[in-house]
Amino acid sequence: MAIADNLACVRERMKQAALRCNRQPDEVRLVAVSKTVSAEVIRAALNAGAMILGENYIQEARKKIDLIGRQAEWHFIGHLQSNKVKFAVDLFSLIHSVDRMTLAEELNREAGKRNKILPVLIQVNISGEETKAGIDPAGTRQLVQQVALLPHLSVQGLMTMPPWFENPEEARPYFIALRKLRDELAGEKIPNVSLKELSMGMSGDFETAIEEGATLVRIGTAIFGERG
Ligand SMILES: *Cc1c(COP(=O)(O)O)cnc(C)c1O
Repeated sequence: MAIADNLACVRERMKQAALRCNRQPDEVRLVAVSKTVSAEVIRAALNAGAMILGENYIQEARKKIDLIGRQAEWHFIGHLQSNKVKFAVDLFSLIHSVDRMTLAEELNREAGKRNKILPVLIQVNISGEETKAGIDPAGTRQLVQQVALLPHLSVQGLMTMPPWFENPEEARPYFIALRKLRDELAGEKIPNVSLKELSMGMSGDFETAIEEGATLVRIGTAIFGERG
């Protein structure tokens, strides 16, 4: 089965990248990005040992989670619209893409209704590209401090998406910048905030991201093939 082979190959490359920089391979978790992938193919990935699935669209994720259930952990990695928050809070165990206070407040409110604490990452637009979501680096500190005050959210770290490059070396400065921003904020010891997670690295650049400290890599194409 191609999916199992792809998954094994990605895992081996993740492991080698971790070992190259003296990290424990199990410090880095794989989020298999299954947007546009059918439930049947996702099952093949689960049978081959995928543990976490990443989805970008709420409607699509609702259908698949209905079909597949919670044998996997589901993460939301896309742009989250405020009117979809109530679904997101029920469906996902980690939201990678909190980039504004209005969204955080909405998530906090819905999590509060369910009497739970929702883990989130703050998405940072390190490159400053206008097409990319994320809070700008200069505003990140204030956003983290404000989200820290919301009782039903738990900040676990930062996420970013660098520009796309043919050569993954060119993405390295963006990964370094996210790690440095994380280290700086972690130094402030903001109450109620953990910054242990760095969600960075995709199919084209995940080894570089791991070398620079990624703890969650989000990989679609290298596992499931090109999206149609
Ligand atoms: C689609 C997507 C990915 C996976 O990208 P691939 O290049 O297919 O590995 C990762 N992160 C986000 C936010 C995405 O939207």
